[in-house]
Amino acid sequence: MLKISFSWDDGAVEDFKIAELSAKYSIPGMFFIPEKNPERVVINAKQIAELHQSGFEVGAHTQSHVYLTTIPPENVYTELKNGQIYLENITGQAIKHFCLPGGFYNKAILSQAHSMFASVRTADTGNIKYSGKNPALIKPTFHFYDRGVKSLLFNSLKHSPLLFQFVLKHRNKNYFEILKSFIDYLATQNADYQIMIWGHSWEIDQVGLWPKLEAFFSFLHQTYPENLVTYDEFVRKT
Ligand SMILES: [Zn+2]
Repeated sequence: MLKISFSWDDGAVEDFKIAELSAKYSIPGMFFIPEKNPERVVINAKQIAELHQSGFEVGAHTQSHVYLTTIPPENVYTELKNGQIYLENITGQAIKHFCLPGGFYNKAILSQAHSMFASVRTADTGNIKYSGKNPALIKPTFHFYDRGVKSLLFNSLKHSPLLFQFVLKHRNKNYFEILKSFIDYLATQNADYQIMIWGHSWEIDQVGLWPKLEAFFSFLHQTYPENLVTYDEFVRKT
């Protein structure tokens, strides 16, 4: 079965708008939240608890949103562990999923993260299938942000021939039309494809993508309600 899931990075205050729209259209959502971020304000512990209590998933995004490839390797563990403990104290639950700040990683960082989390999400886009490995490496399918059709072509060429061919054929459509029609296409295929859509609420706000996001949620809610899964279900072996 085709699985579709969403994850949102950084814990910006606009995450509440994502949560509101998600609730309106019954779309599950994972929020990857650091404790702090030098680049922007992060919601506080009380707000994180609120998000979690309203039924959304919460995942680790390090303690201080530092790009892990830029710090001494011996500091990576502390960044990961402190970020995890922070959220576990707030939610009272095990924090099993992790997302790499800025999408930066190397082999050593991945193996450290995999020793602490059931899954690690990157920002490499263009993937449509996971092997169901444990721990999982989640490379998403689409960024919910208009990166242009060229970027779709470039990324799918690296990760998924099926998506590459599809984008090539539909390159006259716009970014979000391709996203929708590709989901329509995969839904007709009798295979366990997985679509992970990730984004930043602050970015959606910055470029005025809220109407696009609402239209997309509405489309999924009407057409593919049974394909929308939580992050935890998405990561679980099909
Ligand atoms: Zn981030």
